[in-house]
Amino acid sequence: MQELLRAGLRALGLDEAKAEPLEAYARLVLERNRVMNLTAITDEADFARLHLLDSAALLGVADFGGARVVDVGTGAGFPGVPLRILREDFDLTLLDSTAKRVAFLAESCRALGLRRVDCVCARAEDFAADERERYDIAVSRAVAAMPVLCELCLPLVRVGGRFLAMKSARSDDELAAAAHAIETLGGAVERVVDYTIPGSAVTHRVVIISKLRPTPRAYPRAFGQIKKKPL
Ligand code: SAM
Repeated sequence: MQELLRAGLRALGLDEAKAEPLEAYARLVLERNRVMNLTAITDEADFARLHLLDSAALLGVADFGGARVVDVGTGAGFPGVPLRILREDFDLTLLDSTAKRVAFLAESCRALGLRRVDCVCARAEDFAADERERYDIAVSRAVAAMPVLCELCLPLVRVGGRFLAMKSARSDDELAAAAHAIETLGGAVERVVDYTIPGSAVTHRVVIISKLRPTPRAYPRAFGQIKKKPL
């Protein structure tokens, strides 16, 4: 895994020495995955590419320096934990609604000596009650389709901030279906970036949404409503 990670980090212009802590984190996830459901990807090379390097690629599309960042539905810590390992110059909240996963994350962050990271167990739509528009950047991967995801994430982003939605490169229809939600929630698509994960033929996408106006108070709604009647 080390060589693959080193080559991938080099290709992304990132510090190769971070291959070591990234692998240490992979070992923690794969070990715990034996007794709880954290990831379906258990092959080491696939884990390195599809989890670690995919997360790392996000550093190329936005400036995280000094930002307050929230990873919504982080699960086993993607993309948030690799971002934290690779860069220490921003404040990070790892948010997930599953208590067991958040407990694993807190334990792993301690074991890896990661700093400036809060592990929070809450639903994003509830978290917005106290943390509304407090983040410079929200990131999210593999949590929900765009119209739903935007209602979970955009309320957390301050005006002038950004939401980075990690998606499949075949998400044109999903993105088109979210146009009304993005506009209603105060956002606008700034850029769509397709990238190839180093060492693979896999192309993924980051949809960069700028927050232009405050999100109306009516949003986010309760999850039942969000799901039943997506914006
Ligand atoms: N982001 C990780 C990744 O890319 O591997 C995890 C993806 S996993 C498929 C989706 C995660 O989102 C789960 O851990 C789930 O608990 C969390 N989740 C789903 N809805 C949520 C919500 N409304 N608020 C917070 N977390 C949520």
